[in-house]
Amino acid sequence: MKLALLSHGVAIDPSFSAWFTGQAGAVRRRNFYNSPVWDPHEIGSIPQEIRLATHGPPVTVAVNVYGDDEWKLSASEGGPQVDNRRLGVSWAVDLVDDLECLRTSPALAETANLYGGSALSFFSPRACYFFADSTQCRFCSLAGTAAETSYVNRLTSTQVRNAVAAVLAHPQAADRVNQVMIVGGNERGLDAGFARHVSLVRAAAEAIDAAGLTGEVSVHLVTMPPRDLDLVKELGAVPGVHCGFNLEAWDPAIFERIAPGKAADYGHAPILAALERLVEVVGEYRAHSILIAGLEPPSSTLDGAAALAAMGVSPIINAFHSDVHSAIGLKVRPSYGHLAQVAAGLSELYEAYPIRPYWKGCGRNALDFEASHGMFAGEPPALGGAR
Ligand code: SF4
Repeated sequence: MKLALLSHGVAIDPSFSAWFTGQAGAVRRRNFYNSPVWDPHEIGSIPQEIRLATHGPPVTVAVNVYGDDEWKLSASEGGPQVDNRRLGVSWAVDLVDDLECLRTSPALAETANLYGGSALSFFSPRACYFFADSTQCRFCSLAGTAAETSYVNRLTSTQVRNAVAAVLAHPQAADRVNQVMIVGGNERGLDAGFARHVSLVRAAAEAIDAAGLTGEVSVHLVTMPPRDLDLVKELGAVPGVHCGFNLEAWDPAIFERIAPGKAADYGHAPILAALERLVEVVGEYRAHSILIAGLEPPSSTLDGAAALAAMGVSPIINAFHSDVHSAIGLKVRPSYGHLAQVAAGLSELYEAYPIRPYWKGCGRNALDFEASHGMFAGEPPALGGAR
């Protein structure tokens, strides 16, 4: 179901819009998150993500509205559901409640967001020098998204420390948050940018430690690697940190096409070398790298995931999502069959290696958490010939 919803996105039925208006507690997309809504007509506010109703671990799915109405999000007296009339399939879904402290504090909500129901996330800086050079990653929508809102461009470590402390001071929040996530654009001075990201990571870790939650709430960073790989060892002082340097695609030729700035300024092989250094510093399988499913053949994504796993790196497999403002736009969409093939291969990889998901149940476009729980094992459901 998650693969089908990530492939097609969902259409929003008016019954859902009307019902959702009354759900004041649900997380809504705000500040740094891109728009997933391509429908030219106003559909009102939508949830950031939904959770498929299961008796097992959470299955968190992005709400992406591409104009494809194969799957529809609707609501009835029984609550919200996704359904596919053609297939006669219907599935109950849950919404993710926002943290009350974020909902009631505009200042806090401008600094942090709740991602996927359990990741307290910080985005800094809200700019990336690849856009200035017109070499931004072709799937990335950062510049257009940042231009739509007026939030602060760069967070300080004091802001991050205070926000983590403020959120974890609430027992309800401390029960729900299982990771703090630092992500953002990149500065032309890669060493200075990396050092700044590490300072945010340290600040988050200090606040977690002060709250007595070290070991329960982990800190996760995705950034460009520094040019001086000796700087990576700065992460060694942060207990339990996870860090990712993203390759985006395994095939170097496709990497050059979809991430031209990264290819020109750093390169595929040097990112792999940086990942090797990262494994030495943070430990096996706490180093990560994203491969985007849907931008290269499934076999290439799986070859890359296997090679990363063999070198002690946990791959992050994200289904390609088409963001408004990105260069690729809606031109490329991965099929259900494509994602099912990647998911089945990823499932086998989880049996062979102690790789770990980057997102602990909150990766709305990621396949890793579900794969780690064996949810993609075996033959994928045919879904009545779904593409
Ligand atoms: S490195 Fe690529 S994906 Fe990341 S912010 Fe810059 S342009 Fe976007």
